[in-house]
Amino acid sequence: GDIPPVPVRGQDEIAGLTRAFNTMAANRAQLEQARKAMVGDVAHELRTPLSNIRGWLEAAQDGVSDLDPALVTLLLKEALVLQHVVDDLQDLAVADAGALRLSVEPLPLAVVLDQVRAAHEPRAAQAGVTLSVSSGQVTVEADAVRLRQVLDNLVANALRYVPAGGSVSITAAEQGAEVVISVTDTGSGIAAQDLPHVFDRFFRADRSRSRSTGGSGLGLAIVRKLVEAHDGSIDVTSAPGQGTTFTVRLPGHVELT
Ligand code: ADP
Repeated sequence: GDIPPVPVRGQDEIAGLTRAFNTMAANRAQLEQARKAMVGDVAHELRTPLSNIRGWLEAAQDGVSDLDPALVTLLLKEALVLQHVVDDLQDLAVADAGALRLSVEPLPLAVVLDQVRAAHEPRAAQAGVTLSVSSGQVTVEADAVRLRQVLDNLVANALRYVPAGGSVSITAAEQGAEVVISVTDTGSGIAAQDLPHVFDRFFRADRSRSRSTGGSGLGLAIVRKLVEAHDGSIDVTSAPGQGTTFTVRLPGHVELT
């Protein structure tokens, strides 16, 4: 269990050490609690797709339903959800262990953003959403694969929350020594009380809705890890009902380690 705080008397060296000990014990208890919550969340995320797969397979075994192509498609979809959660967890575990190996090189953002646009254009068109990019001549020092992962995540999220007729735009600019990349959408926005939590693991503003779209709630946690691995930062501003902007700041020059 938790270690109860040790009473502190006076202002001497022992009192100082006691305070430090109490702080360490409290931190440890907090970490332990976070770890337990994380394990519970993982189990919860895996349970739904697993029980769907099991339910359908049992129905097939009992002869209640045939393992016809439509059912196989459903099973495959649930398996992909499982795969997605496990891949995301793997990414986070690697990042947590400080074992993310970046292969940093100078990247012209015009090229990167155009690839992102091309990848998401079909879905945007299907949803009736305008997707635009503008980057000028900005070059960033980043890992091409990881930067794509960051931007793909932000754009996929934005497309999820923008209604037909809306827009998603990616812009990039140099600000002093930094490169600033913004993904702005005209979607549902994020409530003020949810805003501080969007980068938390497994956080979803609307559990039921997000589950139906297949998100694991890990996307933004991973995005933040990847940006921080580049010695960058990410923040978000949002106006509920009007839209959201995610802003990624990357140093103009990244130290290779
Ligand atoms: P997921 O998308 O898998 O649910 P994320 O970590 O990517 O998980 O996002 C966490 C939550 O943040 C989402 O469930 C959603 O509630 C909110 N969110 C993220 N991006 C947007 C956006 N562009 N507009 C509105 N809400 C968003």
